Amino acid sequence: NTQVLLAARPQGWVTESDFRIVETDIPSPNDGEILVKNTWLSLDPYMRGRMSDRKSYAKPVDVGAVMIGGTVGEVIESKNPAFAKGDLVVGTLGWQEYAVTDGRAVRKVDPSLPHSVYLGTVGMPGVTAWLGLIDFGTPKAGETVVVSAASGAVGSVVGQLAKSRGCRAVGIAGGAEKCAYVTRELGFDACVDYKDPSFEKALAEATPNGVDVYFENVGGPVLDAVLPRLNAFARIPLCGLIADYNAIEPYAVKHFGALLTNRVRLQGFIVSEHLDRWPTALAELSQLVREGKLVYRETVAHGLREAPRAFIGLLKGQNLGKQVVKLA
Ligand code: NDP
Repeated sequence: NTQVLLAARPQGWVTESDFRIVETDIPSPNDGEILVKNTWLSLDPYMRGRMSDRKSYAKPVDVGAVMIGGTVGEVIESKNPAFAKGDLVVGTLGWQEYAVTDGRAVRKVDPSLPHSVYLGTVGMPGVTAWLGLIDFGTPKAGETVVVSAASGAVGSVVGQLAKSRGCRAVGIAGGAEKCAYVTRELGFDACVDYKDPSFEKALAEATPNGVDVYFENVGGPVLDAVLPRLNAFARIPLCGLIADYNAIEPYAVKHFGALLTNRVRLQGFIVSEHLDRWPTALAELSQLVREGKLVYRETVAHGLREAPRAFIGLLKGQNLGKQVVKLA
């Protein structure tokens, strides 16, 4: 049973030496428990926060403990009447090949969709996009919705949902290749490359009527470029600030005053605190995926030993779409 443990709390950028890979015995389930063989592991930016002991909404992973992570897997032994051998389950069983759980950490999912989708578009990131956009962004047809990290797991869903609500969807992403994917495959109206020197001019051209909803995933200079484009009574679902996650000092926002002058409603949110909305979100997301109306891509790493490198790559933007690990 290969496991990846947190070896050290990173200072600044994560390095591979912050992880330790170990081999342990496969655990056996007691009464009421199931043994799951994980087949897919999700890699997500929030894991950077759990490696640190800074004040946050969730407690950190202990040094020496298995890294936290979303998983899809198969029940291979069940001593819990709610599960049968062969059930496909999604849950948070961590960076390991096998895990025993009492069943509360997992839920059964329909095996007819590609299994890894439950870690992305029809999973936590998809629900994050849905909740942030629909509940906190409250988009209306004809409005302009801008989303940062637009080619990623969350951002790719935000723009497609915005289109489904009759909005103009504008993405912000790093590089021409990601921007081409966002407009050509995901169907956004425009995508602007924040690494290009003419970013601010291109953003203004892509948002001729200003910005009504800014779904924020990154923070940093990208946020400062969007703030002056906001319309009166704009909404900002504040989902993530990945530009700060490996920074020693957080980015100092320059155009904070735009929130006041435009009477903006900014709402930070954590998807796991809105469990009541998950069934509605997942029902729409899975339906759209089945109908081919919600498309996605994945970047796949192979084997748990590749997970630390793939995670660092995710934080640096080397992924296109959802970053997952296929387990042996
Ligand atoms: P992504 O698949 O979007 O991957 C992260 C992307 O962030 C990278 O590909 C990179 O894309 C971009 N990025 C990295 N560094 C920077 C930077 N300095 N400036 C601008 N962009 C950067 O990840 P997710 O979709 O899983 O997550 C997106 C955001 O949503 C994260 O901030 C995450 O923490 C947050 N989140 C919040 C949740 C909540 O409950 N609030 C739940 C889930 C996710 P590029 O090449 O375009 O720069």
